[in-house]
Amino acid sequence: MIELPETYVLAEQINCTLVGKTIKAATANAHPHTFAWYTGDPAAYGAMLTDKTVVSANPGIGSNGGSTEILCGDMLLVIGTPIKYHTKGERLPKSHQLLLEFDDGSFMSCTVQMWGGMFCLPAVKPSGDIVKPSPLEDAFNKAYWDRLLQSAKPELSMKALLATEQRIPGLGNGVLHDILFKARLHPKRKLETLSDDDKGRLFNSVKSTLKEMRDGGGRDTEKDLFNKWGGYQTVLSANSWKRSSFCQICSGNLVKEAYLGGAIYYCPSCQTLG
Ligand SMILES: [Zn+2]
Repeated sequence: MIELPETYVLAEQINCTLVGKTIKAATANAHPHTFAWYTGDPAAYGAMLTDKTVVSANPGIGSNGGSTEILCGDMLLVIGTPIKYHTKGERLPKSHQLLLEFDDGSFMSCTVQMWGGMFCLPAVKPSGDIVKPSPLEDAFNKAYWDRLLQSAKPELSMKALLATEQRIPGLGNGVLHDILFKARLHPKRKLETLSDDDKGRLFNSVKSTLKEMRDGGGRDTEKDLFNKWGGYQTVLSANSWKRSSFCQICSGNLVKEAYLGGAIYYCPSCQTLG
């Protein structure tokens, strides 16, 4: 699934590649998918987007950390699926839920993996009030972190705290494992057992791990706008599990198990339960 680091990577690539192109045709829902979501009737997307020019992509603002926003003229696309660019003449995906054709013959496509929204809304000027800052912005600082922890129930586990309820938009079950591994905290560790030192280490890991993922061009489990895998090598993921099930720090056995809707990966020796 698209999570925060990948939305930054996609936005940067869109800003370098798609800005200035004008949409010649837009087709939504060409291959209906049960878990593809639209605003209103997808058949209206063509009329809403045709002749609009791509202005910018700008993720990570407010609560849109897991989505990529693309401003097309006076319309805003908010996309929670992978986004692919296709040069003129390049083969298009067999199945897609949103396809934009540009005036130079190139295309942009969205294909839903498990689920995903492709919303198209009239763009409104941002109010400037960012309720939930992205961990990659300065506003996500120690004071904000302390408030976030204080507002959470003390019995929440680390996974529940970080990757549910959209407390930190765009931080999901994909990026979670490396964040907790680097903070040396067990995914089931309860918030109330954390010392100030633990909380500080977790804060630093949330910021630095997500930054490393973004700077690496996204995780090696996700593909970018040009259909290339990201360059950040995940420490704990479905990919790393296939490579090795031993901890890279203590060489002990890693654990994979189901927890709170999704697999968790951890080292039971390095990531303590408290
Ligand atoms: Zn270990």
